[in-house]
Amino acid sequence: VIEQGQPEHSVITTCAYCGVGCSFKAEMKGDQLVRMTPWKGGQANHGHSCVKGRFAFGYATHKDRLTTPMIRDHIDQPWREVNWDEAIGFAARRLREVQARHGRHSVGGITSSRCTNEETYLVQKLVRAALGNNNTDTCARVCHSPTGYGLKMTLGESAGTQDFDSVLKADCILVIGANPTDAHPVFGSLLRKRLRQGARLIVADPRYIDLLDSPHTGAAIHLPIRPGTNVALVNALAHVIVTAGLEDHDFIAGRCAPEEYQAWREFILDPRHAPEAMADIIGVPARRIREAALLYASAGNGAIYYGLGVTEHSQGSTTVMGIANLALATGNIGRPGVGVNPLRGQNNVQGSCDMGSFPHELPGYQPVNDAAVRGRFESAWGATLDPEPGLRIPRMFDAAIEGRFKAMYVQGEDIAQSDPNTQHVEAALRSLELLIVQDIFLNETAKFAHVILPGATFLEKNGTFTNAERRINRVRKVMTPLAGKEDWQVTMDLSNALGYPMHYDHPSEIMDEIAALTPSFTGVSYDKLERLGSIQWPCNAEHPEGMPVMHEEQFPIGQARMVVTEFIPTTEQVSERYPLLLTTGRILSHYNVGAQTRRTDNNVWHDEDVLEIHPHDAATRGIADGQPVSIDSRTGRTVLRAQHSTRMQPGVVYTTFHFPHSGANVITTDNSDWATNCPEYKVTAVQVTPEAPQ
Ligand code: SF4
Repeated sequence: VIEQGQPEHSVITTCAYCGVGCSFKAEMKGDQLVRMTPWKGGQANHGHSCVKGRFAFGYATHKDRLTTPMIRDHIDQPWREVNWDEAIGFAARRLREVQARHGRHSVGGITSSRCTNEETYLVQKLVRAALGNNNTDTCARVCHSPTGYGLKMTLGESAGTQDFDSVLKADCILVIGANPTDAHPVFGSLLRKRLRQGARLIVADPRYIDLLDSPHTGAAIHLPIRPGTNVALVNALAHVIVTAGLEDHDFIAGRCAPEEYQAWREFILDPRHAPEAMADIIGVPARRIREAALLYASAGNGAIYYGLGVTEHSQGSTTVMGIANLALATGNIGRPGVGVNPLRGQNNVQGSCDMGSFPHELPGYQPVNDAAVRGRFESAWGATLDPEPGLRIPRMFDAAIEGRFKAMYVQGEDIAQSDPNTQHVEAALRSLELLIVQDIFLNETAKFAHVILPGATFLEKNGTFTNAERRINRVRKVMTPLAGKEDWQVTMDLSNALGYPMHYDHPSEIMDEIAALTPSFTGVSYDKLERLGSIQWPCNAEHPEGMPVMHEEQFPIGQARMVVTEFIPTTEQVSERYPLLLTTGRILSHYNVGAQTRRTDNNVWHDEDVLEIHPHDAATRGIADGQPVSIDSRTGRTVLRAQHSTRMQPGVVYTTFHFPHSGANVITTDNSDWATNCPEYKVTAVQVTPEAPQ
């Protein structure tokens, strides 16, 4: 309950919703939060905000908040409330018992992109140093892991190249698989500002997004591609650029590895990549693809922004590399107004990846199978580290079902709702001997848990988040944690109970440790964050105040690597039985699984997920606007209300995933990105039929 009245003091902190990372003044009256006011000094948002950051904070004091630890022996038993010591002792003892019975590799931990850098760092440290394996992963696995892989392979750094303000110098903006006005609204407004100033817009998306309706975008090009054909599209764009002689040969000669470039050029010149050859597959006329390619390559500064519509595919990593190829071929890297820019979904996706939450990489993307890297961490941590990469989240589920993986510590992710193929996930969770859930609410995953450790919201903790432009922002404690502990303290206590000592008095000490072990963070400290307001990594001796635009002079790998990006169609194809393709996304007023936005009273204007269906597809099935429909896939079935919409082409349907009962992930498949196992949420073959009246 938010008490209204005049604020008495304020604290500057960072929004915990999307990857824009807006700064806010949390205005307080005593210990009550009165309002969140966007802060003019915020370097990511310059005083702007969206409806979520400004108004959707009531969940922090919602009656559903978990405030007391709970334990139980079996998931069919009722919960027993206990104090922190008993809960942590129970969790640690049971973890050690599982390891004694099933071996060191039978346990693991998942951390969240909602938590701070310091908290995610501690979870992976606990798994590696206290539990003795690399079975640690982050929910970035299911969103932007292909970005990490694809940009590292091509540009040598697993991060976007530009600051947000760079878009104000772009002449042509290519948006692929992203809906910035709904999912990243403050950046979406900045993008619109540039469009009003005259920049040209290309949108490659199966759905007609609101950005296309921006004022002064009359000449925008919309490529309503068929879901699953991103790689075919970026190859076709590249084919046009090369055959039209629009490559930046000076840039390529100076900045790109010659052998890789030649191999890529030979590959892309093959006529099978021509728009005319691919138009039927992509679902867009060849002349529109040609028009878009020529515009991007010749308009001056060409900037690419992309989202989950790129990454959440079986070829997500290939598309990311194909996008990097486009920027490299046209010299659109290394200066303001250009670049390759992933729009990260959650507030700290970038940070959770930076902090070593992957099973094959320690903090700073340093490979765990490199003995020299491991040696540095072993000295600092006083522990022997496992050289073998651990299990990714989907493989943890598989291993649990096969009986090889028995216990899991999950901090801040509702895997039962947010991961694909719910039946498979639930079967895995049910088979665990121990599931420890650390969260602010009793979420869907908690149904399968044995230990509940109450989490703290962003208002109750100190730390840092890193936004989509690599900007490290301070998160400052506004109110006392309802359950008495910040999340980093809970992880620290669990580690100590496991017998691996951790001692920190403040998250700034954790950041000091991160800085000492992570080359791109060596210059980062809380003192410097106070002085500068925020820091965009890399921040080190070479760039003591950080770096808004990367790759100006050279790439971390010397020369960039252009990669051959063969289009391999997803196995998830339409058939007579499943003739429509379902794709998914978000709406402005809700956020991911809706745990926070659904519990905020002032967020009332959407109360269900609906299925958008083209009137033609609806008519052939006898589906009226507003009618409940059954959506059947090869994986499962759910029911939603239909909404007639011409935003998609016939043959494609669309829904959001903000309400648990909607069951969007009951129907998504097990397909995943070949390189990273990021799930293919964006392509599901379905049939839609009118639901029989109750
Ligand atoms: Fe928060 Fe993103 Fe909205 Fe900014 S744009 S207020 S970071 S949800």
